[in-house]
Amino acid sequence: MHQQNAIVIGSGVAGLAVAIRLASQGYQVSVYEKNLFPGGKLHSFEKDGFHFDAGPSLFTQPQNIVDLFADAGERLEEYLTWEPVPLSCRYFFENGKQLDAFTDAGKLAEEMHHQLGEDAATVISYLNQSEKLYEHVGKVFLNHSLHKKNTWLHPRVTKALSTVQYPHLFSTLHKYNATRFRTPEAVQFFDRFATYNGSDPYQAPAMLSLIPHLEINEGTFYPHGGMVSITEALYKLAQKKGVQFHFNQPIERILYHESKVRGVVVGSENIPASIVVSNADVYFTYKHLLKDDTLAAKVLRQERSSSAVIFYWGMRKSFPRLHLHNLFFGKNYEQEFDHIFKKGSVTDDPTIYINITSKLEVAMAPAGKENWFVMINVPANNGQDWHRLKTELREAVIQKLSRMLAEDIAPQIETELTLDPVSIEAQSASFMGSLYGTSSNSKMAAFMRQANESKQVKGLYFCGGSVHPGGGIPLCLKSAAIVSDLVKAAKQSNH
Ligand SMILES: Cc1cc2nc3c(=O)[nH]c(=O)nc-3n(C[C@H](O)[C@H](O)[C@H](O)COP(=O)(O)OP(=O)(O)OC[C@H]3O[C@@H](n4cnc5c(N)ncnc54)[C@H](O)[C@@H]3O)c2cc1C
Repeated sequence: MHQQNAIVIGSGVAGLAVAIRLASQGYQVSVYEKNLFPGGKLHSFEKDGFHFDAGPSLFTQPQNIVDLFADAGERLEEYLTWEPVPLSCRYFFENGKQLDAFTDAGKLAEEMHHQLGEDAATVISYLNQSEKLYEHVGKVFLNHSLHKKNTWLHPRVTKALSTVQYPHLFSTLHKYNATRFRTPEAVQFFDRFATYNGSDPYQAPAMLSLIPHLEINEGTFYPHGGMVSITEALYKLAQKKGVQFHFNQPIERILYHESKVRGVVVGSENIPASIVVSNADVYFTYKHLLKDDTLAAKVLRQERSSSAVIFYWGMRKSFPRLHLHNLFFGKNYEQEFDHIFKKGSVTDDPTIYINITSKLEVAMAPAGKENWFVMINVPANNGQDWHRLKTELREAVIQKLSRMLAEDIAPQIETELTLDPVSIEAQSASFMGSLYGTSSNSKMAAFMRQANESKQVKGLYFCGGSVHPGGGIPLCLKSAAIVSDLVKAAKQSNH
């Protein structure tokens, strides 16, 4: 039988996953990527003997990858291995308290009681509720299209709706946490999960309290070889499935006629296809590839997620107090989010996240040294003076870390590079450099996010962090699975 062509625009993690899934369905798949390498935000680089993952550092829900390989009929262990990380993150508070967040509800509750004076039973009951929310609500809406009748008619929706309580929708995550925990440190700890999809705990609905379940109950993992090994594994599998890759080839237009997709334009050449999946940011897809200003403007009505400034620091020595993931909280969390989402600026006492993969794989840095990935949440790019903001941030970060680690860290920085919202947009074509597409600050955010299938153009689909179900590696992988199901369903209904 004649093999149909499918084209994927972009080789981010979702683009790679969708290419694998469509190839498994029998399509002849071609991926066009504007960069010289696959992975989008999920790539890595080396500087002066230090290896850095450029973007994501936290790996959760590996089941999405297990499912991808199982569906492709391939042995995952030949491509990628990982290990659980029982201490998900080490937290440092300005008042000198320290907390090890174990990926075990009982151990975390005990630690929160011991270090913070928090009620252990409250922590357990919060995490139980988090699990219930994820199992009954999260799974239904994150694994399926929100824009198909079938999703809503399924009996599991009744169960989902009965799990949702008034505060999950009508209280902010912060208010919800503040009414549950008696210590400000526990509130700040659980508020932080809003940042996992680039949102503000003082605005986002308490529904986001399902996120801790994924980290604490299900666990966090470290892929051997660093996060980039996820990209490498998917790229290798895609090639094995016969997917053709075209690097350094930006797509210029998506072609359609009589509401049906016909292919793409690349290097002024028309390439025909019966299926086109855009893994590119949905704003740019509408604005530049479809030249549809109306739909592009609709995307603009949704608030962007936060972005980040990253300092990649090669450190001359090792810091025994630090772990794989570390977080140094700012004193005034509310003010910090006010700066990011309302003022479009950066506070002078930012929360600082440090990831050090050489803690688990010493080869990631020269002997006795460490590769620090230092990240600060900042607003999406709106024309701010990033040169000035980065200079101020660097000074504030060095001062804060030196104070909290009780040693001057500036002389220990041997080599460095930085990333900011403008360079994030340049590298992965993410509109305004936002890390996770649109924010989840409004309770309608999940419903406003771009659907995975075009309403206007048959055969055109969307995957990746700027569309349903949202940003972050797990959700991007889910978007690829949803697109694959939609393509299959459309094919069946045509027969
Ligand atoms: C600094 C940082 C830290 C993060 N931390 C985490 C984390 O710890 N855990 C986590 O799960 N997630 C994290 N994320 C988010 C995560 O990286 C993203 O949600 C995810 O990688 C996005 O994947 P994607 O499939 O949407 O594609 P992207 O990575 O956005 O890639 C899209 C690809 O499309 C290509 N493209 C765009 N336009 C065109 C065109 N016209 N023609 C051809 N190609 C095109 C781009 O070049 C790019 O390669 C982080 C992101 C960043 C930047």
